[in-house]
Amino acid sequence: MSTYRAPLSEILFVMNELAGLEQVAKLPGFEEATPDTVAAILDEAAKFATNVLDPLNQTGDKEGSKLLPDGTVKTPTGFKDAYRQYIENGWNGLTKPAEFGGQGLPQLVGTGVEEMWHSSNLAFDLCPLLTQGAIEAIHLRGSPELQQRYLPKMVEGVWTGTMNLTEPQAGSDLAAVRTRAVPQGDGTYKLYGQKIFITFGEHDYTDNIIHLVLARTPTAPEGVKGISLFVVPKYLVKDDGTLGARNDVHCVSIEHKLGIHASPTAVLAYGDKGGAVGYLVGEENRGLEYMFIMMNLARFSVGMEAVGVSERAYQHAVAYARERVQGKAVGLDKATNAGPIIDHPDIRRMLMTMRAYTEAMRALAYVTAAALDNARAHPDPEARKRHQAFADLMIPIVKGWSTETAQEVAYLGIQVHGGMGFIEETGAAQYYRDARIITIYEGTTGIQANDLLGRKTARDGGATARVVAAEIDKVAARLASHANPALRPIGLRLAAVTAALQSAIDWMVPAFGQEVRAAHAGAVPYLKLWGLAAGGWQLGRAALVAADKLAKDEGDASFMHAKIATAQFYAECLLPPAEGLARAITDGGESVLALTADQF
Ligand SMILES: Cc1cc2nc3c(=O)[nH]c(=O)nc-3n(C[C@H](O)[C@H](O)[C@H](O)COP(=O)(O)OP(=O)(O)OC[C@H]3O[C@@H](n4cnc5c(N)ncnc54)[C@H](O)[C@@H]3O)c2cc1C
Repeated sequence: MSTYRAPLSEILFVMNELAGLEQVAKLPGFEEATPDTVAAILDEAAKFATNVLDPLNQTGDKEGSKLLPDGTVKTPTGFKDAYRQYIENGWNGLTKPAEFGGQGLPQLVGTGVEEMWHSSNLAFDLCPLLTQGAIEAIHLRGSPELQQRYLPKMVEGVWTGTMNLTEPQAGSDLAAVRTRAVPQGDGTYKLYGQKIFITFGEHDYTDNIIHLVLARTPTAPEGVKGISLFVVPKYLVKDDGTLGARNDVHCVSIEHKLGIHASPTAVLAYGDKGGAVGYLVGEENRGLEYMFIMMNLARFSVGMEAVGVSERAYQHAVAYARERVQGKAVGLDKATNAGPIIDHPDIRRMLMTMRAYTEAMRALAYVTAAALDNARAHPDPEARKRHQAFADLMIPIVKGWSTETAQEVAYLGIQVHGGMGFIEETGAAQYYRDARIITIYEGTTGIQANDLLGRKTARDGGATARVVAAEIDKVAARLASHANPALRPIGLRLAAVTAALQSAIDWMVPAFGQEVRAAHAGAVPYLKLWGLAAGGWQLGRAALVAADKLAKDEGDASFMHAKIATAQFYAECLLPPAEGLARAITDGGESVLALTADQF
């Protein structure tokens, strides 16, 4: 097993040079995010990730969470204690509102920290991630009374939160939710129904769990317009803030899964013993709308899981490739004896692929995080709108493209290990298994692609998509005419992919209205084309910064050279197939749909 090393220089480079931390720290409310404070936070997070979370990753996978006969769940050895340390160190409230005890730091800073949690222990961080979503919902739409009662404890982390959307018949299609919420005449409701696949729906970290639950009131209209959102605590909370009676929500089983074994995935029964007491969030029938607001952040976080697990799989593969001796590398003078596999060109290809994808996903996510901060805090309303539109376009890409790309990274991580990759002891297989869920929860890739196509591209006639594509094109032009010749091929390839992207947008916008099935048949290729182009955009920007620093003799020269080489590899080896995706989008719809359902 390798030990996780937080890529601090890389994280700081991306935050400072690509995402614009300096500008974000000038936004009202974010003044505390000074360079020194941010560096100190990242340093401490790196220690916690390396010393506390990483050592539990493999043992947690082997041991898994267990359902006990009394309906409680025991998380793997060490997890409860790690969670205690996590909240005692104040990590849970890092980006949460100061009025409820958080530190109110920008999302951009939280993103750097979050990456380290995901790299070191994906299963562990799912609990804080879901708590964050629940906090967001109560903060955005809960009454002042709900906020006062729940948020301080949730921000501190002494109570955790969950998101209860899924039911056996309601997965991607939440219009099919059936859980009932019956008003009691005193402002409260009683909930009846079953939720499945609820992450950390039951656990032993804390003595209360605050469930955010989608349900229907008796008079609710059919479909998505009839869903409301409720807070349902495991233990009712008395007026003085202490815990009262046990509520009627119980864990009936936990799932046996391919990965993230340490994270309990619960089936929760509501109302089997008379009804689970729930409190309405916001207004009746607007639950799905609220859920979507908070899902933006949760989807972004799952995109960050892709970055985290990819980084870890990459580090693991590099460590193995340095150690494993096998064969003489072709064409190297020194290769008179068998040497480490890292000298084989094909191993280099795999490691470069893993590295370039990871850096591209990271840069895109951090730039999106900065846009979220600007959308929230920029003093100019027009700028807030612009940043929000950019973040809205990017979030399905950060979620959908990055999680799909992480599959390839984790797959290559195994391939670099050869047979040992298939053997559990090395740990490479765990990253592959753990990564598999991220293309599924918080909306599958198909759902992200539909969102990118319908709500984020077609709805405004392709306006935002075209603005962003034009920005990519500008960077391509700067690269293509750069004084440093290493940057020019990056610009040429990026320009070709941007042209392909623009043609795909031009085709998609009318097709969404006129050939809706063909447009949707190309939705995932469209998402992938966007991801490849946007990732190349960010690596191209990184290469521009690196070339500038090299010219001025600033910074670590080896790091800057590696930035340019990685961008060049991405442009030359990973971007060319992206041009073909535009073809698949514009030409492929008919053949995708050619067979009837019974011909399969
Ligand atoms: C480990 C784990 C943890 C989870 N945690 C939570 C949680 O904490 N809270 C929670 O509420 N849920 C949770 N889920 C549920 C998860 O969000 C759903 O599994 C996911 O949304 C997909 O729903 P489904 O499984 O019903 O698949 P389905 O919706 O049945 O999808 C099956 C296939 O059909 C495709 N599909 C469906 N509709 C469309 C469409 N309109 N267009 C194109 N393709 C479509 C999907 O992309 C997929 O490929 C979790 C699931 C797992 C496995």
